[in-house]
Amino acid sequence: MAKKKTLIHYIGMNGTSGCMPDSCNAYETKRAAVESLTDLLELTTRQARELSRDGLVYCKPGQGADYAEVSECTCSEPWVHSEGSRPEDWPDYPQPEPEPDEDSITTGDHRKFYQYGKLAFELTEGENVNQGIERELNKMQFWPNVFFISDHGNAHLIHYWEDK
Ligand SMILES: [Zn+2]
Repeated sequence: MAKKKTLIHYIGMNGTSGCMPDSCNAYETKRAAVESLTDLLELTTRQARELSRDGLVYCKPGQGADYAEVSECTCSEPWVHSEGSRPEDWPDYPQPEPEPDEDSITTGDHRKFYQYGKLAFELTEGENVNQGIERELNKMQFWPNVFFISDHGNAHLIHYWEDK
């Protein structure tokens, strides 16, 4: 199990005063954020140092932005800050549970399993659910995610491979 720790990432931004940031990215370290903005805006050594120390630096004319900013963030989804960033890029963070998609198999009772609106397979009474799912998927030669849909309509991924 991953140990509990406060996960901090750093948001690097740059933009024009009074506007939304032109670009925004999350980095694992403050140093990476500063280096990236330094490259992007061709900051001087002095500006880079200021950015690192104060978390903010004002740019000179011609540097492509009015300011660059680096701030700490402790949210649990750093990938939301960067366009094109995905949860897999942040393996230290708890990964979001997948949502059912059209190929997914769902069950409301751990007995009958549906796919594409039709019964895909049915387990026998008293059978180990996880082993049953694995056997049926192996038969199908297709291994989509399998979800238990609760009475409230919430989907829970069944980790059928974990219990052998
Ligand atoms: Zn964040």
